[in-house]
Amino acid sequence: MLTDAPWLTSASIRRVFEAVAMEGDEARVVGGAVRNTLMGEPVGDVDIATTALPEIVVKRAKAAGLKPVPTGMEHGTITVVSDGTPYEVTTLREDIETFGRHAVVRFSRDWRADAARRDFTMNALYADVDGAVHDPTGEGYADCLARRVRFIGDPHARIREDYLRILRFFRFHAHYGAGAIDASGLSAVVAARDGLRRLSAERVGHELRRILPAPHAVETVATMAESGIIEIALGGVVRLEDFAHLHHLKDFAVEAGNGILQLAALACFVAEDVDRLTDRLRLSNAEAKRMASALAASQTFHSTLDWLAARERLYRLGHETAIEAALLAWCRSAAGPDDQAWRRLLVTLRSQEVPVFPVAGRDLLALGHKPGPAIGVALQALEARWIASGFALGRDDLLRDAGGDAQTP
Ligand code: ATP
Ligand code: MG
Repeated sequence: MLTDAPWLTSASIRRVFEAVAMEGDEARVVGGAVRNTLMGEPVGDVDIATTALPEIVVKRAKAAGLKPVPTGMEHGTITVVSDGTPYEVTTLREDIETFGRHAVVRFSRDWRADAARRDFTMNALYADVDGAVHDPTGEGYADCLARRVRFIGDPHARIREDYLRILRFFRFHAHYGAGAIDASGLSAVVAARDGLRRLSAERVGHELRRILPAPHAVETVATMAESGIIEIALGGVVRLEDFAHLHHLKDFAVEAGNGILQLAALACFVAEDVDRLTDRLRLSNAEAKRMASALAASQTFHSTLDWLAARERLYRLGHETAIEAALLAWCRSAAGPDDQAWRRLLVTLRSQEVPVFPVAGRDLLALGHKPGPAIGVALQALEARWIASGFALGRDDLLRDAGGDAQTP
């Protein structure tokens, strides 16, 4: 029983249940929320399965004053917004034919059929409005508590229906698995690995981005590498030690836990790697830029940089890039995660403010400099003096000797 789960007792979900589960229809929470609550893990989205047909869900939600949004009508999903919280309400269904994300579906009232079309036993658990857990496959509950990620039905057949399940298998294991990865699942994903080439870059990118920050990512990615799967997904070689090193920097977990930096540590060694990964995983322009900046700047970091050099990098790169570049350089170095010099450098980078150059072009104009390219040159000279002073010179110090031509006799 999950009677105390806040997502089940909230007024907002109660309104959805009351709206949808009427006239003989039922509604139950399914998937991640049930799974994570049983495991004691934090819950993200709350998804609901119902016997009511999609158009009925829309009608009833409206009648109850909730906001239905037809986000996936063709596979039976209506997003119902209640007190600002969105719930994906999906009609029970069987997937008659599946080609990746495009399935021919048949709506049903059969909870077992709905469970059977899902991927893993732990993802096919349902909680009803009273908190009772229903386990139509008969194996989900035990697998969930034992943290075993197992396919529902024959793994080979289930993967052929949707090759994304190869990556989902690793994703759920990396987040929630305990002990060895399921052997029959593993041999099936390895046998089907070439199917990964048929997936869109968006889908592969989405899954990989979620695998890398997972608690058991190091072991999982190692398994993916041994089985040739990571190379297919990324299209190049990887360096597991560097990725593991980054993962183990627990004191810098906030900065190191970023999926883009993890991807850089795993698979980015030269600038061309950034282009390939951007293409393979459909990284955004901002992500590609972030990765490229960290990679380029990492060449300029070593553990013995002094305080002034660290400040200079902060000034030139900004906080985010300076810290990510340093972390990347640390991972690439022979120094281990406990290395004191690297730790000191990272603590400095983290704690220092980014210096702000106190002089602007208009200050020079006010002193009589003529507008034009010479202003830029003069500013650069002042900036160089300022940096050389350890960022100590203030605006007045810098401007004192910076009179323009008008003042020079
Ligand atoms: P998360 O916390 O990561 O959101 P989740 O279990 O909610 O975990 P989703 O990807 O949101 O995962 O999917 C919701 C549910 O839909 C899953 O629990 C699973 O039952 C089913 N599902 C999603 N994608 C697939 C798929 N590719 N094949 C089979 N079933 C799937
Ligand atoms: Mg979900």
